[in-house]
Amino acid sequence: MRSPIQPYLRNVLDGIAERRDGALADYIPELAGVDPEPFGVAIAMLDGQTYAAGDADLPFTIQSVAKAFTYALAIRERGLDQVLEHIGIEPSGDAFNRISVDERGRPANPMINAGAIATFALVPGETAAEKFSAVLGFLSACAGRTLTVDESICASEWGAAYRNLGIANILRAGDALAAEPAVAVEGYIRQSSVLVTTRDLAVMGATLASGGVQPVTRERVIDEEIAGHVLSVMTTCGMYDAAGDWVSAVGIPAKSGVGGGIVGASPGRIGLAAFSPRLDRHGNSVRAVAACERLSRDLGLHLMRIP
Ligand code: GLN
Repeated sequence: MRSPIQPYLRNVLDGIAERRDGALADYIPELAGVDPEPFGVAIAMLDGQTYAAGDADLPFTIQSVAKAFTYALAIRERGLDQVLEHIGIEPSGDAFNRISVDERGRPANPMINAGAIATFALVPGETAAEKFSAVLGFLSACAGRTLTVDESICASEWGAAYRNLGIANILRAGDALAAEPAVAVEGYIRQSSVLVTTRDLAVMGATLASGGVQPVTRERVIDEEIAGHVLSVMTTCGMYDAAGDWVSAVGIPAKSGVGGGIVGASPGRIGLAAFSPRLDRHGNSVRAVAACERLSRDLGLHLMRIP
């Protein structure tokens, strides 16, 4: 029997597709040139079954969605205490590229650039390439397939990385960066340039939602304890300075990226994802936010609402 979920997801897309507000991220030259029209939505069950509609199998760069997963990897490899010594877990209420340092010299949280660069530096490995290889292996394990890098977007961002290099230098000066600034930023930008599809993101979300077991391969990639911690930080910090709006309207842990993707994880229930490149003023995809709001409402996913 054909699942009713498929036409439902199609209906979610159709109700939002007419929205053309928002703008492409233009601070990375290559990102400013992507097609703004694609729109995909996907959900992944904890048994690995996926449902998708629209452009859910079109690759795009993961960008900041990777931050949540690299954070999980850093905790797995270094332990939570050591990670917390370097990076806080307080929402910053600021833009993603804010030069964020708290009173202890740490970035406010791992979901903004400052914290994500510090997180990347904590991943085991001497060079940017070694650290990145660990990150790519982890992202691939969560997606259940071998992911690759968009080399032209990576080179384009590296060529305009002044602000991220500035952030990394300030962190290093305050002893909050466990690698040379150029190493941390080079690897962090490569991590942002990993190609994923909306369906991949839904499966990666399901990996967190299940407490750390990849739903298709059944590999346990992180402990339940770590998954719970990462989901908590995603809830309060995952949508940058729109985190408050997000928690009240959608109410599930999520992470967005300037490529237009959003990953969501409904603990113990499903992973979900949406993608469309035009962004609101916070750097979150306009259509993907709208799709997640609709899914949360229709499927009763809001954590703070009694279904
Ligand atoms: N690569 C981007 C940057 O560091 C990621 C930002 C994002 O997705 N918000 O600026």
